[in-house]
Amino acid sequence: MRFLCFICLLLPLSVQADWHRESRDLMGTRVSAELWADDPALAERALAAVFAEMDEVNRLMNPWDPESELSGLNREAHRAPLRVSPALFDVLERAIEYSQLSDGAFDVSFASAGQHYDYRQGVTPSQAELRDALGKINYTLIRLDADRQTVAYAVEGVQVDLGGIAKGYAVDRAIDALLALGIESAVVSAGGDSRILGNLGDRPRTIGIRHPRKKDDFIVMIPLEDTAISTSGDYERFFIDEQGRRVHHILDPSTGKSSGKVQSASVLADRAVDSDALSTTTFVLGVEKGLALINSLEGIDAIIVDARGLLHYSDGLMPGAPPTDADAANKP
Ligand code: ADP
Ligand code: MG
Repeated sequence: MRFLCFICLLLPLSVQADWHRESRDLMGTRVSAELWADDPALAERALAAVFAEMDEVNRLMNPWDPESELSGLNREAHRAPLRVSPALFDVLERAIEYSQLSDGAFDVSFASAGQHYDYRQGVTPSQAELRDALGKINYTLIRLDADRQTVAYAVEGVQVDLGGIAKGYAVDRAIDALLALGIESAVVSAGGDSRILGNLGDRPRTIGIRHPRKKDDFIVMIPLEDTAISTSGDYERFFIDEQGRRVHHILDPSTGKSSGKVQSASVLADRAVDSDALSTTTFVLGVEKGLALINSLEGIDAIIVDARGLLHYSDGLMPGAPPTDADAANKP
């Protein structure tokens, strides 16, 4: 009898609100979602919705899958304009906006050179490959026609990779799906791109920015709510070549080689598509030009670890700056 009563007490607790989590390997990285829901059935639907969005973006934009819509473009778009899905068109349009804004530091046609690197095998492009690729890295060679929703590449050999923007876009789609289901508190991450919805009830979430040179360590902890944060680092996919140089996955489009100005760049924005593209952009631009760009944009902030390991903050994160999301999160 006493045992039965104990069960009676437990049952109502088990259907109370709780955090629900799921992680999967997708888009070449770890995708995870954590959300607060008072109904386990709703939580299950919400987590399924997150991964459905991720799967869809992966299906369209994975450059390693020959069946993806992006791979079709890379094979065919130099021959004739191809009609693409609204999602792919949208991401390409945003990518080109960031190319224009950064004077080409962000350029998804970097892949014309990027395709010749293999970070696992320690392979870099030959001189001839690099020379040829440099003529093909130019976002103006990607021609979008908004009326027809078509994409064409102006010359043969242009290759596009959306690795610097698609994960952020996917995170936003997942968050939009959660909002549509009435979820108010969640965090969705795809590798270095995260978006936080709401808070932890009575306090903001604390997000750590990884230390670029100390594995499993953080260089900064920052309290955040209702914000996206993306970090681009030279420690994600890299090898050290015979000359002792770090060869990594973020390329300077003007050289086709790894950009060495900083160790990491983190960007805060309302939406992850923006924080993702801007973290890669800021990484390539370096401290001075990167902060100048970030400070010129409304509602965007950045934390940069320079080549010597020193931290730099955008104006909005400096003491005495007008309130930012991060400040608001600190208030009781
Ligand atoms: P991560 O993929 O580690 O989260 P990023 O958001 O910085 O980090 O994305 C790095 C990816 O961006 C690279 O793997 C590559 O696909 C792409 N990329 C590299 N250089 C550039 C560039 N100059 N412009 C646009 N995309 C780039
Ligand atoms: Mg990025």
